[in-house]
Amino acid sequence: MAKTEFFKVTDSVYCLRPRQTLSSNVYFLEHQNKLVLIDTGVCSLYPELKNAVGSRLVEKVLVTHGHFDHVEAAGFFEKAFLHKDDLNNLSELNSFMPSFQTPKVLPLDLKKIQFGPFSIQPIHVPGHTPGSTVYFEENSRVLFSGDSLFAGGVHGRTDLPLGNQTEYTKSVEKILALNYSLLCPGHGELER
Ligand SMILES: [Zn+2]
Repeated sequence: MAKTEFFKVTDSVYCLRPRQTLSSNVYFLEHQNKLVLIDTGVCSLYPELKNAVGSRLVEKVLVTHGHFDHVEAAGFFEKAFLHKDDLNNLSELNSFMPSFQTPKVLPLDLKKIQFGPFSIQPIHVPGHTPGSTVYFEENSRVLFSGDSLFAGGVHGRTDLPLGNQTEYTKSVEKILALNYSLLCPGHGELER
């Protein structure tokens, strides 16, 4: 059986979700045979990610934070972006995962990204990690939240290296104020 499932979220958004492996969901935003990916998952699932991408061109990869299960396979892509506060701390953030293969990623610019019909606003939400970022697609009000918020209002962890509960509490308020209509978290179920 495949280690992942691939399903449609909205008209032009898809999700590659691992069934068991400790890896993040990967979201695909599609426009005219091009993709923007949110997160990449781990290297061991890259063959399935590559298969799901198919012949489409990955224009950009937007990574929500520097934990191995979200960023590890980002090194397979030319333009993968991560907030500098995580980029500069990749080793420490993943010190609990000795097998982590540090990917080469680029510093994220927090300005709005236009991609076809999508208008994607990166928002810095420190707490789970110092550089945690959520991506808010403003036209359809879809929020890609990484590990900063899960379905059912479940909070992210702040007990991992460089986590900060005080910052996290402020960030959650910022996230809830976005008034999103669909939550696409880094793990598990989506919330409509
Ligand atoms: Zn995480």
